[in-house]
Amino acid sequence: MNDKKFAVINPCKICQPMGAILALLGVKNAMPLIHGSHGCSTYMRFQLGRHFKEPVSVSSTSMSEANAVLGGEENLKNAIKNVCKIYKPEIIGITTSCLSETIGDDVEGIIRLFKTKNEDLPYLVPISTPSYKNTHVEGYDSTVKALVSNLATPSKSNSKLNLITGMVSPSDTAEIKRILQEIGIDYIILTDTSESLDAPFDGDVSFMPNAGTTVNEIKDTANSYATVSLCKHASSAAKFLEETYKIKSISTYLPIGLQNTDEFLNEITKISNVEIPNKIQKERGKLIDAMIDAHQHNFGRKVAIYGDPDIVVGFTRFVMELGMIPSIVCTGNESEAFINDINEITKNSKDKPVILSGGDLYDLHQEIKKSKVDLLIGNSYGSRIAGAENIPLIRMGFPIYDRVGAQRITCLGYSAGIKLVDTITNTILDRYFDEFGWALDEDKEVQNENLKNSCFLN
Ligand code: SF4
Repeated sequence: MNDKKFAVINPCKICQPMGAILALLGVKNAMPLIHGSHGCSTYMRFQLGRHFKEPVSVSSTSMSEANAVLGGEENLKNAIKNVCKIYKPEIIGITTSCLSETIGDDVEGIIRLFKTKNEDLPYLVPISTPSYKNTHVEGYDSTVKALVSNLATPSKSNSKLNLITGMVSPSDTAEIKRILQEIGIDYIILTDTSESLDAPFDGDVSFMPNAGTTVNEIKDTANSYATVSLCKHASSAAKFLEETYKIKSISTYLPIGLQNTDEFLNEITKISNVEIPNKIQKERGKLIDAMIDAHQHNFGRKVAIYGDPDIVVGFTRFVMELGMIPSIVCTGNESEAFINDINEITKNSKDKPVILSGGDLYDLHQEIKKSKVDLLIGNSYGSRIAGAENIPLIRMGFPIYDRVGAQRITCLGYSAGIKLVDTITNTILDRYFDEFGWALDEDKEVQNENLKNSCFLN
C-alpha cells in the first residue's frame, strides 16, 4: 500500500443497497424499497439503468431532515402502503441506508407491528444494509440470506440443487442454467437475473421483474439436497440453510477458465451423483485448444485485475492459465478470504502479485505506475487509468457504463472461456503487434523475451 491513508479516492466498491437491489431484481414480482432519502434510489436506478440498459424500479421511503431527527417510521409504513396499492408486488425487499441505520430506525420491529395491523400484505423482507461499512458485495450477500431466512420453509424433498450465483451478469446466469440443464440437474437459482435484467423488447413496460426466482422457489430452498455458492463472498444463505435445515453447503471459485470450471463441475456432479456429459467435455477440449493457440501471444504479459473480490480471484487464476502474470490485484473489499485465495492461487508462481484488499483506484493507479502492466481487466471505473497509461482495458464486472452489452458479457464456464481467450488475445495483438503480426517497436524487447521463455502448457 502507499502512504495515502486519509481518504478513499475513486472507490473500487459501491454501497450495500446496490448489491441488495441487484439481488432483488432477480426475484419475480419483487419491489425493492430503500428506507432512506430519495437520492439513494435515484443513484441505484441510474447506475443499474446505465449498466443493464433496462428500466429499473427502486422505491424509496423518501426521508427528509425532519425524519432524520424524528425517525422514519411513518414514511416506511406509508411507502409500504403506496407500493402495495400502486404496484401490487408479491414481495417487498426493504433495505436500509446510511440515514436510517445511523438514526437507528428499528425496521424489523416496525414491520412486525405493521403486519399485525394490516391484512393481505405481500411478503415484507427487512434487509440491513448499512452503507458506511462493507460494500455492495456484502449487500448482495445479506439480501440473499434475508430472502432465504424469511421465506425458506421445510416440507418434502424436492431433489433440486440451490445455486447462489453472486453478482454475475444475466448472460452468466443463463449460461450456468444451460450447463445445469445439459448435465440434467434440477435447480433453484438465487437469484435469477437472466431474463429480468436482459429482457426482450415486447412493447410493454414492467415496473417489477416479470421473470426470475419465484417466492415459491425461495420457500423451497429448504428442501433441496445442497446449496452451491459460486462466490465465497455470497455464501451466507448457504451457511444459513446448512445450519438451520441441514442442507449441505458447498463453496467454489467462480467458474472462470479451466481449473475453476473443472472444480465447479466436479462439485455439482459429485453432489448430484451424475456424470459430466460429452457435450460439456467437448467444450472443455475446445477451451484448451484456444488456450494453446493463443499462448505465444499472451505468455509473460502482465495484467492488473480489479473489481469484486470473487471476479478478481477467478480472473487471476484464468490469466495464469494463459501464461500471463497477474501483477496487481485490487478489490474494494477488506477481505481475508480474498487475500488467502490470491496467495493460494499464486503460491507456485515466482511473480507474486501486489494485493490491494480494501484498495481504491488511486492505489491501483500508483501501483500500475510503479510496475508497468500490459493489460487491465475490470469495470468502467478503470478507463481513466487505461487512458492515462495507454494500457488496453477489457471491461468486466460492474458497473460498465461506457460500452453497450454489459448484460451479455459471459465469463463463466468453458464456452465463455473460449470467447475470453479470443478477447484477451486479440486485445494484446491489437495493442502490441502491427498488422503483419510483428511486435511494435516499443514492445519488441518484451515480446522477444516472452517468445524466448514461451513453451506450450509449461
Ligand atoms: S452511500 Fe448512503 S446515501 Fe449514498 S447512495 Fe448509498 S445508501 Fe444512499
